[in-house]
Amino acid sequence: MLNIVISGAPGAGKGTQSKLIAQKYRLMHLSTGDILREEITKGTVVGKTADALISKGNLVPDDLIIDLLNQKFQEHKHFYKGFIFDGFPRTVVQAIALDELLINNGTKLSLMLDLRVEEKELIARLFKRGQTSGRNDDNLETIYKRLKIYHQVTEPIINFYKHTQRYNAISNTTSIETCFKQIEQIIDSIKPFDLCQNPTSLIM
Ligand code: AMP
Repeated sequence: MLNIVISGAPGAGKGTQSKLIAQKYRLMHLSTGDILREEITKGTVVGKTADALISKGNLVPDDLIIDLLNQKFQEHKHFYKGFIFDGFPRTVVQAIALDELLINNGTKLSLMLDLRVEEKELIARLFKRGQTSGRNDDNLETIYKRLKIYHQVTEPIINFYKHTQRYNAISNTTSIETCFKQIEQIIDSIKPFDLCQNPTSLIM
């Protein structure tokens, strides 16, 4: 299985690159932000809790998002060659939970891609996106809050992945194509050994 975490600050291009990766390597794209927005649209209890937090730029609680991710992983694991986890983990607790989930399913994380973009550029991108995205968290006040939370709570996962040699920083400041080329090189250089077993023979 090829299992990839794509990380980076809000506006770093995680969603765009994840779609390209999922298409080329036939992976299931699991975006926790998209999953939460679906819950909000459906008006579920989880959606209501998430809406109140997301609209203010806060993260949803670890246990809630870990449960949701586990459910989606179980639903899709038989049908794909692996997963691209987009926007998850956002805390060290989530990173540990993801490793556990993968190990319990006979697989492991192949690599972590960290998209790096300068702060000024991130703010400009998110503000521009807010004019068309319809997302109530793409306004200036919430953007600043999300970036602050990213630095305080999410960036520490970088060290977690550096310690286990799965960390790859990629600058995403030029174009979508240039960034994707770098990602392809990293993925294509993974040794078969790191792809971890045949999922169908291991996952019940
Ligand atoms: P995104 O679409 O990835 O930018 O996520 C939008 C919002 O959903 C974030 O600002 C958080 O409020 C929430 N969210 C998404 N993923 C997570 C996560 N892994 N942990 C906590 N909150 C999350």
